[in-house]
Amino acid sequence: MDYLLEQVNNQIYVVAIWDAEWNTYTNAYFIQEDTGLTVVDSCKEGHSVFLQHALNKIGNTANDVKLMLVTHGHEDHVGGVSLFTEAKKVIHADETFTAASSISSELLDRGTIGNYEYTRVGYHSPGSVIFFHRPTRTLFTGDFLCFFGDPLSDGGLVSKGDDLRPAWIEFLQGGGVSKGDLPQFLTGLRIMKEYDPCVMCTGHGGVLVGDLDVFLDELIAIGEKR
Ligand SMILES: [Zn+2]
Ligand SMILES: [Zn+2]
Repeated sequence: MDYLLEQVNNQIYVVAIWDAEWNTYTNAYFIQEDTGLTVVDSCKEGHSVFLQHALNKIGNTANDVKLMLVTHGHEDHVGGVSLFTEAKKVIHADETFTAASSISSELLDRGTIGNYEYTRVGYHSPGSVIFFHRPTRTLFTGDFLCFFGDPLSDGGLVSKGDDLRPAWIEFLQGGGVSKGDLPQFLTGLRIMKEYDPCVMCTGHGGVLVGDLDVFLDELIAIGEKR
C-alpha cells in the first residue's frame, strides 16, 4: 500500500498517502479521545481505501470516528468525507467545497470544539482553520503551512525536519507568499506561536516536532522584513 502510518504521540496517528497524480504526500490524522476517534482532514475520495486500511491497523474502523475537523475545503482534504458516517463534521463558514456534504459550516473565526481550540487563518483559502489539540499541544495547520510536493525529511515522517525547515524559509524569502497575502500570513504565524505547540501536523508531508517556536520566529522575522 502506498501510504505511511506512524504514531505521532500517545494519542495521535498520521496517515501520509502518496498521491502520484499530484506528486505529493497528503495527510490525515486520527486522534484517540475518550469519546471516540477524531479525524483531521480526509484526503481525496480515492484515498478512502488507505484510510480504512490504516484505521484497521490501529484497531478501529471508520465508524469509530465521531468528530471530523476539516482545515479547508480543497478536494484533497474533504474528498474522503463520506467514509465517516458516524461523525459530526465541521468546517468554517467561509469555506466552499464540492464534496457531497454532510459537513456543517458552523466554525467561527475563533472557538473551541471538543478538546480543540481553533482559529481561522484565511491564508491559502478564505475559511482555512488551524486546530490546536490542547491535551497534547499538537497544532494541525492544514495547507496554511505544509510541505506540498516535498520529499519526507531524512529524519522520517515525524521528525524535527531540519532539512525541511530551510525550504520553507527560502520559499518565504523568495516571495512564495505574495505581498498582498503577507499580512494575513503573518497574523496566522503569530496565532500559531501563541498556541505554543510542540507538534506541527501539516496538510502534506512532514510532521514537525521540536523547537517550533524557533522556526515560527524565523518565519515571522523574514515576513516582517519583506
Ligand atoms: Zn489546499
Ligand atoms: Zn492540500
